[in-house]
Amino acid sequence: MMDKTNKKIGILGGTFDPVHHGHLILADDVRQKFSLDKVVFIPSGMPPHKAVSSVTEAEHRFNMVRIAVSTNTGFEVSRIEIDRSGYTYTIDTLTQLKREYGDDTELLFIIGADVVNDLLTWKNYEMVFGMCGFIAVLRPGFDNESFVKRINWLEETYKAKIYTTDTPLIEISSTIIREKLQRGQSIKYLVPESVEAYVTENGLYT
Ligand code: ATP
Repeated sequence: MMDKTNKKIGILGGTFDPVHHGHLILADDVRQKFSLDKVVFIPSGMPPHKAVSSVTEAEHRFNMVRIAVSTNTGFEVSRIEIDRSGYTYTIDTLTQLKREYGDDTELLFIIGADVVNDLLTWKNYEMVFGMCGFIAVLRPGFDNESFVKRINWLEETYKAKIYTTDTPLIEISSTIIREKLQRGQSIKYLVPESVEAYVTENGLYT
């Protein structure tokens, strides 16, 4: 469970439908570069930005993350969003994390370049900017120049604290994995073997 002595915590929220090596490589790279005490993976409940019916049951998504992070002591998974009923928003998650960790813990939300463009659609985004910092990472297929411009603008306009980083570009997405499984193709090397086994055992994404 969460350890209150940690001072710098990375948060990786996502649908994780399913979790893949792109997520794990990203999280461990950022954990080391920013000397984070740990990275907490937070699978979403009912994501407000995605069609609910198309998202796999939260318990399966949680189990896959739990299995995937179990081999890294710097990783943890949280039920914070999947245990909340109804729609879940980052502001509510942050409020709960702040309560659990106390004010002297720095919370750093790890986000992909795609997410930087969505920040102003988040509920109470100005409050969110006051409660946590962000680590924005490059992702394949994104225009770096407009990405940096957008970040500078958010920092100036909203006093948001956004660090940027390069991370190994791993062209894996959950979408690609779901498509492969639907076509009956292998997802070997895209997800940990334990996650692949879980998908097969539970007949997910077919
Ligand atoms: P989908 O294809 O269903 O949209 P996804 O692979 O993007 O899913 P999410 O659960 O939405 O996975 O991702 C959670 C976070 O991880 C997001 O911030 C996203 O930008 C980031 N992320 C996902 N895949 C990668 C990757 N290959 N490299 C770097 N960041 C990634």
